[in-house]
Amino acid sequence: MIDLGWLLPTKARVTSGWNVTRVDPVHPTKADGSPNIVAHYGWDFGCPVGTELVAPFAGKVEHYWPIDLAGYTSPHPMNGNCLVLVPDAEECRGIKGFERLWLHLSKSLVVVGDRFVKGRPIAYSGNTGYSTGPHLHDELHLGGKAVDMSLYYGGRLHL
Ligand SMILES: [Zn+2]
Repeated sequence: MIDLGWLLPTKARVTSGWNVTRVDPVHPTKADGSPNIVAHYGWDFGCPVGTELVAPFAGKVEHYWPIDLAGYTSPHPMNGNCLVLVPDAEECRGIKGFERLWLHLSKSLVVVGDRFVKGRPIAYSGNTGYSTGPHLHDELHLGGKAVDMSLYYGGRLHL
C-alpha cells in the first residue's frame, strides 16, 4: 500500500519526476535522429502491478477512463486505465480546479460519481497504456492545467 496523501509517500520509489524536457523513454529519438522531447507532467512511483492505492483525501471520482471495455474506447489510451479524483472543498486548501490523475492502473475499485473517504482502497496500480514498467503516474491539475505536484508536498518529493 502506498500513502499518496498530502504527506510524502515515503515508501514509494520515485522513478521519474516532473520534467518538461524529458526524452521519451519509449521513442527517444525522432526520425531525423534528434531527441524526442515529450514533457512529463507527473511523478512516477515504481511499484508492482496490483499495489493497493488508497484515497489521498476525502472526495469523489470525477472520471474513470478504462482502457479497454467492450464497446468503449478511452479518450486517452496512452494513460491506460485512468482515474481522476477531486477532493472535497475543505480538503483542497482553497485551491480551485483541483484534480488528481492516476494513470496506468491495473484496476479501479470505484466508478464515476463514487465518494470515498481518505484511506479507502480505490485502485490497484498497473502497467497499462504507454508505460515502460509497472508504476503509478500521479499527476496534479489545478484549473485545468498540470502543475508540479512536488510544489504541494513541501518540496519533499525528489528523485
Ligand atoms: Zn509518468
